[in-house]
Amino acid sequence: MNKLAFLTMDVESYFDTSCLKNTDIDRDQKYNCAEEVLTYAKFLAKNNIKGTFFVTVDFIKYCKEYLLEAISLGHEIALHCLTHQSYKNFTKEEFKQELVESKKIIKEELGVEPVGFRFPRWEYKKELFDVLLEEGFIYDSSVIKPNKSFKKDFGYIYVRNGLYEFAPNIWKFPFKTVLLSGGGFYRFLKGKSMSRVLRKHIKKHDTFMIYFHPFEIHKGYLPVPKRGILQVQKKYLTKNRDVYLESIQKMINVLKENGYRFSNMKEYVLAKEK
Ligand SMILES: [Zn+2]
Repeated sequence: MNKLAFLTMDVESYFDTSCLKNTDIDRDQKYNCAEEVLTYAKFLAKNNIKGTFFVTVDFIKYCKEYLLEAISLGHEIALHCLTHQSYKNFTKEEFKQELVESKKIIKEELGVEPVGFRFPRWEYKKELFDVLLEEGFIYDSSVIKPNKSFKKDFGYIYVRNGLYEFAPNIWKFPFKTVLLSGGGFYRFLKGKSMSRVLRKHIKKHDTFMIYFHPFEIHKGYLPVPKRGILQVQKKYLTKNRDVYLESIQKMINVLKENGYRFSNMKEYVLAKEK
């Protein structure tokens, strides 16, 4: 099988970023970064790539027209839940209600039925995956380092109880795991020298996934708290956003040079199930 790459975006407001919680920044909606959803959809289309957009339902009111255009460009709409909160303490019943409600709104607003899911903030509990299956989802993409209960399918793709799991690529140290798939990673590198680690990783593995957020490609000013967040969080919010799409472009080129084909998650699972 070809090596496969998956480009994904978590469609959420800038204000959903975890480190902005409980801070007193200017929450004017002009800073929510909804337009970047369209910027990214067009950028992928220019590269002939069909991406996966994990949509937070309560953000649709700000980006509906952009998502409709993304759909018309052939991108996949998946679900990033109703609101961008932690679902760790939800019961199965509560979670089911949110899923049903989310699917209903997406169908009404965007005319599609999502079959893929990603928990906000990588936070979940195991029982909730049963609910995903009951509600007709065919894959999830929320688990960092899937454990032995998952069966490896291909590269970083796993299966458990019939639900496919697209895990992020990681770089493991004895006491630390770096998410190579993560948006922040490329921005810190600025893409000018694709790090040796990343190139080596791409050669060694069969799948590669990239995920990031609309605000990460926003050019120009965004409000950042003056106090109350760490220096590294401040950097995460600001560093190299203006040149980020160029970095992603370089990454796409490197993946192509290394024999990767671009797919989206739904397409992958449906092809497997044929
Ligand atoms: Zn998110």
